[in-house]
Amino acid sequence: MTGATLKRDLRTGRSLWADSHGLGVPVKPLERAVSVDVAIVGAGISGAFMAHELSRDHSVAVLDRRPPLMGSTVASTALLQWEIDLPLTALAERIGAEKARRAYRRSRSAVDALKTIVADERIVCGLNDKATLYLAGDEYGFRALEAEAEARAALGLESAFLGKAEVRERFGIERTGAILSQGSASGDPARLAAGLLRRAQANGATVYSPVEVEQAASDPEGVTLLTDAGHAVRARQVVFCCGYEFPKGVPTPGAEVISTWALASRPRLRCPAWLRETLVWEASDPYLYFRMGGDGRLIVGGEDESDPAAHQDPVKLKHKCATIAKKLRDLLPEVEFEVDYTWAGAFGESATGLPSIAPVPAMDNAWAVMGFGGNGITYSVIASQIVAAGIRGRADPDADLYRP
Ligand SMILES: Cc1cc2nc3c(=O)[nH]c(=O)nc-3n(C[C@H](O)[C@H](O)[C@H](O)COP(=O)(O)OP(=O)(O)OC[C@H]3O[C@@H](n4cnc5c(N)ncnc54)[C@H](O)[C@@H]3O)c2cc1C
Repeated sequence: MTGATLKRDLRTGRSLWADSHGLGVPVKPLERAVSVDVAIVGAGISGAFMAHELSRDHSVAVLDRRPPLMGSTVASTALLQWEIDLPLTALAERIGAEKARRAYRRSRSAVDALKTIVADERIVCGLNDKATLYLAGDEYGFRALEAEAEARAALGLESAFLGKAEVRERFGIERTGAILSQGSASGDPARLAAGLLRRAQANGATVYSPVEVEQAASDPEGVTLLTDAGHAVRARQVVFCCGYEFPKGVPTPGAEVISTWALASRPRLRCPAWLRETLVWEASDPYLYFRMGGDGRLIVGGEDESDPAAHQDPVKLKHKCATIAKKLRDLLPEVEFEVDYTWAGAFGESATGLPSIAPVPAMDNAWAVMGFGGNGITYSVIASQIVAAGIRGRADPDADLYRP
């Protein structure tokens, strides 16, 4: 067989980002008891933003039972959006108009904060500004999207409704309408988290791995974490950033774990110019979403399912990714692509689309961040801001939005 006819195997069950360069984060085994101001359980993107923020003025230990980044962070398709899973108009019906407006504004400013951190810290993670195209679907049709665009524009958010003809003309997509918004972004989530952890380490934080936190006991002065390494970690405050693996004994009101699937095409795809600058998602259930990566790969996801274990099923991986690829080909028939990576992961859902970022009930000096939905990484930023304010004894004006 000549080199030209050799065909690389489809990378099944392996996230695209697991092969990124620059994921090295120095770690240590926990070989003795340690005492710090703040212990963070979880070295994913949430633990990374938290450690980056808190290591500025606290001693910090980050603990993970896996190597850093290897939870849901490495699986993320990393559409870094300020649009919440639930439209502003629908969120207003659930939590009231004033709170819904605050939640949208807060997400918008969190995406800006993320961009500022990446720029200030010079983290190389392929971060690019992107517009977002939210297509009418079976959950919200064009009339609902028209009202949604108006409600957002009234808040000063950069969203405009496009009718059927404009969606066809500008994007070659057949839908009854869409909202085009500005101000979101995309990037490599694993390199972003690795960069943040390394900056936290430069501030003095230590990442311990592999170390499983088995139990946490709190008292008025602090928290003691018992680990499988046989040594305890004593901290004045603990923050659980455990993603979708909820820590034992920590209540998780309203947070559901579901399964989701994703794929990436081969790189250097020929595609229309608008696709390089735009994240696309649809108002359907289950929904399809896609975006381009920096190396010209199409990254596509969706087909969420309520079974929290379904993402581990290899047969489902094949079928779900075939469905995702077919949906994309139906929507963008002119874009030809070959699938290179397919993977799946756990995902969170809550009744409001908002996560829980709050002190742990019935435990002193403990915080938990969980229940992240489609824009989980935006919430990782908000979580680091709210928890850091709480630990520093300051009030965050939006903390009430994220209390279950
Ligand atoms: C396929 C897929 C696509 C996604 N797409 C997007 C997207 O486009 N945009 C977006 O914003 N979000 C997206 N998300 C969601 C986003 O990836 C998550 O919100 C984010 O990665 C959560 O990060 P985390 O740090 O909270 O959790 P994780 O990355 O899961 O990190 C938690 C860590 O805690 C560790 N841990 C847990 N329990 C313990 C313990 N007891 N002791 C020690 N360590 C422990 C785990 O080992 C893990 O490393 C997607 C998720 C998936 C699966």
